[in-house]
Amino acid sequence: MRKMRLHQWPLLLAAATAVLAGITAADAADCPREDALGTARVLSVDAKTYPRVGLKSFPQTLPLADHEVVLTFDDGPRPPHTQKVLAALAHECVRATFFLVGQSSAESPALVKRIAAEGHTVAHHSWSHPMSSKISFEHAKEDIDRGIEADEKALHGIATRTPSTPFFRFPYFDSTPATLDLLQSRGIAVFGADLWASDWEEMTPEQELKKVTERLEAARKGIILLHDAQARTAAMMPAFLRYLHDNGYHVVHIVPAVTQKSANAH
Ligand SMILES: [Zn+2]
Repeated sequence: MRKMRLHQWPLLLAAATAVLAGITAADAADCPREDALGTARVLSVDAKTYPRVGLKSFPQTLPLADHEVVLTFDDGPRPPHTQKVLAALAHECVRATFFLVGQSSAESPALVKRIAAEGHTVAHHSWSHPMSSKISFEHAKEDIDRGIEADEKALHGIATRTPSTPFFRFPYFDSTPATLDLLQSRGIAVFGADLWASDWEEMTPEQELKKVTERLEAARKGIILLHDAQARTAAMMPAFLRYLHDNGYHVVHIVPAVTQKSANAH
């Protein structure tokens, strides 16, 4: 909790009112910069309604309006790049979703906790980043579960294979019918992407910025895939977030829909 000055109390009150209204308005209250990009709205995603999203792999995507974007980052946590991405997001008061690799979560649990503590969504991206289609179903299942377990252990200290945020993205978007069925049966939403920066390719941060903004101009909205594990993306983020601000884009933060407990409470 940061120190609160007297003139900040009206903001706190506004935040409390917004929370009562079911809106996460932390950004409006907490953001110290008036000119920041900010997070425009929070979208609850339910795997029943949206079992598989992202037009690069699936016919369906999230219900986003024109100029709305969802920022997603894969392959972290990876010091020091993840910290740089977090700093850029915090500077603009933007919330994103991080699809973590379990092995890396086990190595950097403090960084996983920090991602969550800064208000971002922690999602899952397997244990060892395999291509599911190249290994047996049993092996793929084990790798998915072990990844979830490692992420949850880093987050909460409890090694559970039930994800607190049931969002998963396949490494290389390489799913199989059997692994897709498995995740659907467990109520875990599978995320592809609508566009990406191709930040796994050799290029400068400036080239990456040009590529991703051109693609966004064409798509006008969507789930954007980036990699916080990549130095060039960490370097590009401040300029990319400014681009979104200057060109009228709105950031949508995805969170899991209310889970079993309250849904089942009659
Ligand atoms: Zn990946």
